Amino acid sequence: MIVMKFGGTSVEDAPAIERVAAIVRGRAPEDPVVVVSALARVTDQLLAAGQAAAAGDRELALESARSLRQRHRRTASELLSGNHLSRLQAILESNFDLLEELLTRIASLQELSPRNTDHLLSFGELLSSEVVSAAIAARGLECEQVDARECLITDGSHTRAVPLFDATRARLESRLRPLVERHAIPVIGGFIGATLDGTPTTIGRGGSDYSASIVGGALGAARIEIWTDVPGMMTTDPNLCREAELIPEISFEEAAELASFGAKVLHPATLLPAIEKNIPVCVLNSRDPAGAGTCIRAHAPRDGRPVRAIAAKRNTTIVNVAGERAWIPRGFLRDVLAVFDLHECQVDIVSSSQVSISLAVESGSATPELLADLGRFTEVSCEPRQAIVSVVGENLRGRQGIAAHVFGSVAAAGVNVRMISQGASEINIAFVIQEDDVPAAVRRLHRDLFPHREVASYVSPAGTSIEVTAHGS
Ligand code: ADP
Ligand code: ASP
Ligand code: MG
Repeated sequence: MIVMKFGGTSVEDAPAIERVAAIVRGRAPEDPVVVVSALARVTDQLLAAGQAAAAGDRELALESARSLRQRHRRTASELLSGNHLSRLQAILESNFDLLEELLTRIASLQELSPRNTDHLLSFGELLSSEVVSAAIAARGLECEQVDARECLITDGSHTRAVPLFDATRARLESRLRPLVERHAIPVIGGFIGATLDGTPTTIGRGGSDYSASIVGGALGAARIEIWTDVPGMMTTDPNLCREAELIPEISFEEAAELASFGAKVLHPATLLPAIEKNIPVCVLNSRDPAGAGTCIRAHAPRDGRPVRAIAAKRNTTIVNVAGERAWIPRGFLRDVLAVFDLHECQVDIVSSSQVSISLAVESGSATPELLADLGRFTEVSCEPRQAIVSVVGENLRGRQGIAAHVFGSVAAAGVNVRMISQGASEINIAFVIQEDDVPAAVRRLHRDLFPHREVASYVSPAGTSIEVTAHGS
């Protein structure tokens, strides 16, 4: 069996879902399990509706729910007719009634708790999995929507719940395996799960990729396919840099670094279950199903380039802490890190000197409580609106002169570097710059590290055809 995950833009409307059904049909002999995100932008809209309700604007919240109801109704009626349509419409209407009840409840509480946030967001994937499953079934394939809350079991840390792997594996075995064995196609929502007592949870924004690999790992898939809106994993974000090129093959280690350092095309945790079971992960474009995409596997052939790709992680804050008497006393680093740990704040980069330590963290996790705790024993200051840029590739290992090359490029772009780090694995050089400088720095780096090959051929005076490869700079 294989797992096929379709992201929000891949299921955004009826034509997109038609394409999904055709892609799934083409893979039917491989016994796919289909994992879907909510229709594009739905998660953001549900969240905004919940926030409006909590702020006391019940009418605005219900208006958003009505517009989501219309969008799902329209999509269903463009995809289906007859019995297929009326069955799906009944499911959609009852779910939207429940959603409106929940929003009304949030409005009367005037509070959007993490628990209610998860309940609210779970509607996105529940609805999309119903629509996609009905569309596939109407095209003649045996198919069944499976409620992810019965399969993906997590702890109770709402909005970023952690999967309980043994319970999840057991549920997936009992719920999905029998369907796969009789060649029926299960369609399950990504991103959402439930605690053991059935309370809905979510595993973090963008988490449907992770759901797909959890399913693939638990059921021993031959391959996990991540279908999205770009040709595959690319040398940098193609929405940031037009010259980004498709990476045909990349190693688990390289792809995991890129995902952790901002390559949104994969949720950072996606590769963990795949690495554990050595399952290849393919990133493919649902708008161009015949495209080669990217294959992520244990080992990928090296090419001649110094780096495989460049990633940028925005929304970063630098927290600076200083020793009280202009030097860092013994045990200071341990005490500082203990505070970050206590507040469950993940530190992406650390750099230290004799007198101070700088830590780069995700902006939302540098909470006032964390800063207050640090302030009890040290001087603290913050620099918000920063970004981490990483250049990643196994060819970086032991390569002389690469740091000069990278920082020369960044300097040529007129960008100031605030922090620098290279991990022990030596496949990543990361540095922190101002968030506004990301486009200039990444484009310049890409131009210098991936010189564009212009191949022109012309006929020489002697009559032979000659190919000229020009490396731009
Ligand atoms: P989906 O909704 O399918 O999960 P996402 O929006 O989460 O899709 O991820 C796809 C996006 O990731 C692309 O549109 C692209 O802008 C972004 N992205 C960032 N870095 C990369 C990269 N190195 N290669 C490809 N896409 C990237
Ligand atoms: N729908 C969720 C989100 O927007 C999960 C996902 O798309 O992966 O974050
Ligand atoms: Mg995504």
